[in-house]
Order: sequence, then C-alpha cells, then structure tokens
Amino acid sequence: MTPTRAAIADGVGSFTIDTVEVGSPLADEVLVEIRAAGICHTDHASLSWKRPLVMGHEGAGVVREVGPGVTHVRPGDAVVLNWCIPCGACPQCERGDTVLCEVSKPAHVMAPSRGHAHAAGTRWRGSPIDRSFNIGTLSGLSLVRKEAVTPIPASVPFPVAAITGCGVMTGFGSAVNVARVQPGDSVAVLGCGGVGLNVIQGARVAGATTIIAIDTNAEALERARAFGATHALLAGRDDPELEAMAASVRQHTDGRGADHAFEATSVPALAFAPLRLVRDGGQALQVSGINDAVSVPMPWFMWNKRYVTPLYGGCVPSRDFPRIFELYAKGALQLDALVTRTYTLDQLGQAIDDMLTGRNAKGVILF
Ligand SMILES: [Zn+2]
Ligand SMILES: [Zn+2]
Repeated sequence: MTPTRAAIADGVGSFTIDTVEVGSPLADEVLVEIRAAGICHTDHASLSWKRPLVMGHEGAGVVREVGPGVTHVRPGDAVVLNWCIPCGACPQCERGDTVLCEVSKPAHVMAPSRGHAHAAGTRWRGSPIDRSFNIGTLSGLSLVRKEAVTPIPASVPFPVAAITGCGVMTGFGSAVNVARVQPGDSVAVLGCGGVGLNVIQGARVAGATTIIAIDTNAEALERARAFGATHALLAGRDDPELEAMAASVRQHTDGRGADHAFEATSVPALAFAPLRLVRDGGQALQVSGINDAVSVPMPWFMWNKRYVTPLYGGCVPSRDFPRIFELYAKGALQLDALVTRTYTLDQLGQAIDDMLTGRNAKGVILF
C-alpha cells in the first residue's frame, strides 16, 4: 500500500484532506498518479452521500502500474479517467449504450463499489473506503478498472484532459451524441457555466447556425459568445414561466422556437424550461442532472415535443475522447479557456466556493 493525500467527504456535508493508502493493481486494474482533477457540482453533492468517500470524478494523470490483464495502456502513459465505467458485457453495453451499463450506472454509485476495483484497494484510517464513482480523482493515486482510462495525446495539458473527463464530455456529447444537432439547426442553451459552454461548442462543431445563449449573468453571456453563441439573451428574474424568454427565442428562430433547447443551470425550477423554448416536435434536454421533485404544466409538451435527460453526454470513452482531443488540436474546441483557475488540494474549499458562486467556468486542482 502506498500513502497519498486525498480529499475525503464525511457524508454529512463536509470534507477533510487526509492520507489514504492505495494498493497495487489486480489483473484488470490500473494505478494512476493523478495530475489534475476538475471540480463540478456533483463533487459538492458528494459531500452528503451518507458515508466517507474519496472525492472527485474528473481527472487525468500518468499510469504508474498496470495489472497483467491490461494491454491498452502502459506505465508512463498519460490518461484521462471516465466516471461511467462500462462493464462491456451487460445488455446495455452490448447494445452500445455504455453509459447505461447495468453494472456501473450512477444509481449504484452511491452504494458500495460492486466489484469495481478491489474493495480493499483504497484504505483510510485502516479500513477500506469507497471512491466517488469508483475513481475518486481528488487523490494523489487512484486505482481503477481498466475501462476507466483512455490514453491522451502528449500535447494535451493535464488540466484540459481532466475537465474533458466530465464537464466537456457532458456538454459536447449532449449536443453531438444525444441531441444529434445537425448542420443548420437552431439551439438554445439555458445556463452558460462549464457544461452549457460545452453544449454551445458541441452545437457549433455540429454545424448549428443559430445558437442562443441564455443566462442571468452578463459575464457568462460574454463567455458564451466567445465559445460560439450567435445570440445572447440576459434572463430576467421576473419571468418565472419563461413567457418573455420563449418569445425572444421565437424571434431568433423564424417565429417557431429552437430545434433543440438545453437546460444546464442545475436550478430545479428550470428543469422543464427548455420545453418552452423549442418548436413543435422539438427536443428539450435537461443536462444538469436535476433530481428534485418538480412539476410541469402538460401544455408545455404540446405538440410532439421530446424531453430527454442525457447521461454523461452518451460517452463512449474510446470513441469520444480521441474525437474531442482531435477537435482541440485543430482549434475547433476551446478547452484551455475553460480552465478559469487552478488550485492546490489544500485550496479545495476555496475551489468549491468559487464554483458555487459561479466565478469559474471550471476550477481545477493540480497535484
Ligand atoms: Zn455494462
Ligand atoms: Zn461532473
């Protein structure tokens, strides 16, 4: 077992930085030295998952050691981690919808690790400890299943790779893989934080010609324009039914409404808001993972509107990460500009506060 420093959630709303011990890989496992870990809202939520847990689910680093059954990476390789770890053998994996893997789907994340990396592989204060999404990237070392790592080109900086593991993938993939935005389409994006900006980039790469960014924060809208939004609408706080906002979106879409509208605010009251912004037969997507009980007037669905809650942008790691890094290398995806600020592990509290106040597109912890 090797000691390393990690952020440990206490399960009741707080965390501490402490030493954990991490073991060597079994047959199909990889030991990764984490170099950078991004922070997103899920990390804040994970503080209250009712048990101690190594935090973090966005990360990139260097392979230190591999088990004998691992052939796609070697010690010294730079890798990005994915938090949805396909088993490769269940019916959902077999039909290619690996984010819905029945062995590792997020409903299981809050339960103990079900065979994802050996249970005693990470120990804290003498006992095994779970890791957020079975990867726990806010730790100097992470022992993961081989399906959780994808090699990255040497030219990709670790902070950029880390945020690609969740925020970039979720936004980009929701537009490209799930909504399947087509050339000439119109898109509205509600909320221009880390995920929303990547929905905008994904829509731009897919060829959308009208991309309407919506936010209550003028600074966020400025960022959205830099990432490809063609229109920016400042949302008022006095428009709870989005009557005025829907009218503005129609104005920019030939009076019809957008082909696709995305919610990326994490505000429960806005879960169904994208339905207000799409045309008849259009597609509303809620990408921020809102989990609360919310109600919706049925007329908002009329007519023939679809409502989807994409998980992890439909991520297939071996397909999507190489594609994202290729677009990044060509300058078609801006990823450096998403890393607003970097922190040390000891500054994690500050990083979480800055995220909650919306100060950063993305904050990243460097190891
Ligand atoms: Zn599976
Ligand atoms: Zn995330």
